[in-house]
Order: sequence, then structure tokens, then C-alpha cells
Amino acid sequence: MWRIFGGDPVRYAELIRPDSVRVWRSKGIKERLGWYYKVMKNEAPAKFIIAKRIPTDINPSSRELGLDELLRIHSKLKEKFSRVWRDVRESPKPWKEIPSVKPKHSFLDVKVAIACRLASPCRLCERKCGVERDAGEVGACRVRGLKACVDTYFHHVGEEAPLVPSGTIFYTGCNFRCVYCQNWSISQPVTPVGEEGCLDAKELATIQEWLRVSGAKNINHVGGDPTPNLPVIIDSLRYLEVNVPQLWNSNMYLSELSMEVLEDLIDIWLPDVKYGNDGCAVKYSGVPNYVKVIERNVARAAKHGDVIVRHLVLPNHVRCCTEPVIKWLAKAAPNAVLNIMDQYHPDYLVESHPEEWRELARHVSREEMSEAFRIARESGYVGPVEDLWFIPP
Ligand code: SF4
Repeated sequence: MWRIFGGDPVRYAELIRPDSVRVWRSKGIKERLGWYYKVMKNEAPAKFIIAKRIPTDINPSSRELGLDELLRIHSKLKEKFSRVWRDVRESPKPWKEIPSVKPKHSFLDVKVAIACRLASPCRLCERKCGVERDAGEVGACRVRGLKACVDTYFHHVGEEAPLVPSGTIFYTGCNFRCVYCQNWSISQPVTPVGEEGCLDAKELATIQEWLRVSGAKNINHVGGDPTPNLPVIIDSLRYLEVNVPQLWNSNMYLSELSMEVLEDLIDIWLPDVKYGNDGCAVKYSGVPNYVKVIERNVARAAKHGDVIVRHLVLPNHVRCCTEPVIKWLAKAAPNAVLNIMDQYHPDYLVESHPEEWRELARHVSREEMSEAFRIARESGYVGPVEDLWFIPP
């Protein structure tokens, strides 16, 4: 595991990414990322801090409690959480809306208990492999055990302007098999990722604290994909004592129950929406039911926090993927900010076997990007504002 650190990340980011300051002059962006902005500026507590303050009389770590019982308790506490979060959002003094004392057992503890149950048998993502992760069994993501398998963490200055510098934690393993993966060395390990050298919840919290204190605007959970590490990520929030927006940077192929647990803890979502049809998802990433699962989860994320959707335009896929993705987002998540990305390049299997993946074996053309932008404009988006698009109210 590598910690990459070079001087003062805030000053460095302002120097090489002046757009990270400039972007907040846009009223449209600031309105759509309003919750994230407040937490980033410490004007409001992150959602995980609120979840820690919602009490329960029941000890959720009791092994006698089954998943159904935990979900019943969770559902009641969720109502309370939603009320407090609404009050925090609407209050001129958000910090005054939450109790200063942490209860013995909290809504967050219930979430940790549920997430651990979801990992064994594993149904953290929609693959629902059913392997016993706590017994060391390995599913499609090739992640073994329940510790955090972290490859690197650092202040990322290459993310979207509102996020820079982003306290990014790269987890190894992924539930997708994208033939063009640009992070394949950590997402597609040849052998399963073991627990050796991986981090427990307290260690993961320490990394997050260091990232925030040294200038990160957010904690960016990414990979591979963070979903296979969801239990330890949620558990780490019990030990995290600094206020920092939690960012979920993911393919969003989480199961419904994982979303149910996670949605109250994430302040800003960064879904990577790839395909506009199931055929391309099966062919290039090896995942079934893509459209239904992603549409369900992205719509849900948009109701529970701010969202920047990433869509990487693929060569020869504007009609079948880019167009339906943008048109669907405009209707289902009009408050989401959209980043239409042009940086696709042939990598991983497409690079090593270009004859097998001819349609993906080139960069995206200028005409294809113009067409993607035209579709965005016709769907109601204005932009680009520092690479981002949004729909005016
Ligand atoms: S997180 Fe991994 S083991 Fe669990 S269901 Fe998804 S792919 Fe399978």
C-alpha cells in the first residue's frame, strides 16, 4: 500500500487546478452541490456524523439479532434520521440540530451490523455470489475477507473541479470485468486479494482523518470498486472523528439492501454510468441486468445527496449508450451534474487483443464528442462549466 504525498495539497491544487476554485462561482453548480459544499466547508455535519447521533436502545452487535430484525430496527431509525437530516439542511445553524453527545448504540452501529450480515453470504452487489466472505471465500470481485484492501491513498488533483483536492482511497478488486479497464492492475488482480496487509476499520479511519486534516475536500472511496469493501468502510465511520464529506465513486452495481444501508451516509455520489443497454454491459463488463440496477441505484442516490454522474463516451457507442444514458438522466435525475468524458483510450484486453475488440480499439473522435454534447443540449443541459453540465431549474 502506498501513501503518496507531496507538500501542501491545497496550494498545489489551487496552482495546477484553478478551476477547483473558479467552479464555485457558477450558481448552477453551487445549487446542485449545495449539501456537499456546506459539509466541505464545515458549515454542516456530514451524514455519517448525524447517523452516529441517532440513538437506539438495542445493541446491534448482538449475534442473536437476525438480518430481518436488524432491518426492522433500521427502518424505524431511518425515519428519525431523515427528520434530523431535513432539519440540519434547513437550519441556519446546522450543527445546533444534532446532539453533541454520542449515544452508546446508534443508527450507524445498526448499519455496520447489517453490512456485515450482507457480506456472508455475500449479496453486497447485484452479482449476489453468496460466498461466505467472513470465512475467506472469494466471489466474482476476488476480494477475500472483510478488511479494507487498499492499493493507494492520496490527494487526487485530477478529479472534477468541485472535488479537488480529493482524499482518494483506491480499493483493490471489482465486481465488473470491463475489457477496456483503465485501472485493471488493481481492479482485476490475477490472484484473489487477501487480507494480509489490508486495513481494519480503525486504520481506515486514521487514513481518512489524515487526508482531511492535510487538505482533502472529501473522502473519495473508489477502486476497482468500493462496494466489495462496504462493511469495513461503513465501520470506519464509527472511528472517524473529523467532519468530511463522504464520496462514493462507483459503478453503482450495489444490491438494493446495500443501497438501503449506504444512502444515509454518502454526501456526494460519483456514479460511473457506462451503458445504455444490457447487451453492451454483458459484452464489455460481464454484468447482467445493468440498466435496471443502475437506473434504480442512481435515482435513489439522487434522492439522498448530491450527484455528479460520469459518462465515458466509448467509440462507436454514442447511439446505443451515450444517447439513452443522457436522455434517461435528464428525466430521472435532473438535479444531477453530468460529466461527459472524452478520455477513453484502448487499455487492458482491448489494448492487448485489438482484433477481438475492434469497435473499441481507438480513441473517441471529435465528431462523437460533438454528438454527445449535442444530445446533452437537446436534453436540456447547459454547459460545459469547467467540464460539467447541468439542467437549469
Ligand atoms: S461484492 Fe464480490 S463477493 Fe459480494 S456479491 Fe459482489 S462480486 Fe460477489
